[in-house]
Amino acid sequence: MEQRLSARAMELTQGGIRAFFDRAGQYRDAIHLGIGEPDFPTPPAIIAAAERALQAGFTHYTPNAGLMEARESVADYLARYGVQRDPREEIIITCGGMGAIFEALQCLIDPGSEVLVQNPQWVNYAAQIRLAGGVPVRVPVYEDRGFRLQPEDLEKSITDRTKLLILNSPNNPTGMVLTEAELRAISEVVCRRDLLVLSDEVYCELLYGGAKFHSIGALPEMAERTLIINSASKTFAMTGWRVGFAAGPKEIIRKMVVLQENMVSCAPAAGQMAAAYAFRHMPGVRQMRAVYEARRDLLTDGLNAIPGISCRKPDGAFYAFPSIRETGLTSLEFCDRLLTEQHVAVIPGSSFGSCGEGYVRIAYSNSEDALTEALRRIRAFAASVLS
Ligand code: PLP
Repeated sequence: MEQRLSARAMELTQGGIRAFFDRAGQYRDAIHLGIGEPDFPTPPAIIAAAERALQAGFTHYTPNAGLMEARESVADYLARYGVQRDPREEIIITCGGMGAIFEALQCLIDPGSEVLVQNPQWVNYAAQIRLAGGVPVRVPVYEDRGFRLQPEDLEKSITDRTKLLILNSPNNPTGMVLTEAELRAISEVVCRRDLLVLSDEVYCELLYGGAKFHSIGALPEMAERTLIINSASKTFAMTGWRVGFAAGPKEIIRKMVVLQENMVSCAPAAGQMAAAYAFRHMPGVRQMRAVYEARRDLLTDGLNAIPGISCRKPDGAFYAFPSIRETGLTSLEFCDRLLTEQHVAVIPGSSFGSCGEGYVRIAYSNSEDALTEALRRIRAFAASVLS
């Protein structure tokens, strides 16, 4: 049967994150710190908005670009960050951030186009770039520079075929948050080399220790070069609702709307109404952020107290990215053995790119009790490795 599959389908492989998630399922007492999934319920006010929408008849197809109410809510939300987009033709409501990224890459990438992606970086960009016929080109970032993208490393990776840079701040997996000055330095290279930017901002509300979010799309020179991607998933604990958006130049959005018409028609109607409410009123966000911040501190302080492990304090998202080099294990060996011996699921840094080797990603979207128990098990594991 396999020979009947397309070459494109044959190229598709399961990502490292899901593989560990599936394996952890076999242990009853497993602690899941693998998947980036908020453990909070969706705030009740958002659920109530969806219920009202369902009762009011939002049970049908919507315009392919999404309900105007949702697009207007997104436009007002973006304006808080200094980004001006016309809801009529510069915003599309999509099936999650993933749907927006997929449509964007399909509309922007020709066979052979090169797309710059940070190394290490969330795995799905590379798979989606390849699916669009493009070539992911990895730009290294290093821990001693806070995992921050350096303009000179960016410049070195650009060729005649480079079309697009994917930026993700706050970052998955490193938790790094770019400052406005850093975004300016990156945009200088982007403008000079005539590139586009896909700015994935899905973690933009999850910031700690006074870190501030800036969108590269708010820089005046970047407005015509930036496609912003965001979603309700992480901000409002709405991963299962599958509502996201893209905002950018109308020529790009227009094509994404046609692609969406041919793919899924539209995002779920009641979910769009729920997201419209959520982006307008931001229910629960401050409270969830405070809980994540306490967990971040608990986890990073705990990790730094374990011999063989060291961890920078991330400024955003909900991932810690500690170095496990001193244990002498590769990141795959570390995660494999930690899961088998102590039933704690974390993700090998190497699955985010070669520069992730020597690190593991630990999601702290889990309770303080679970994190405390995970720290106890990681300590026992590290001690057994080092003994
Ligand atoms: N972008 C990044 C960096 C992510 O980590 C994720 C999910 O893990 C997404 C986008 C997609 O999220 P969703 O499709 O649920 O909006």
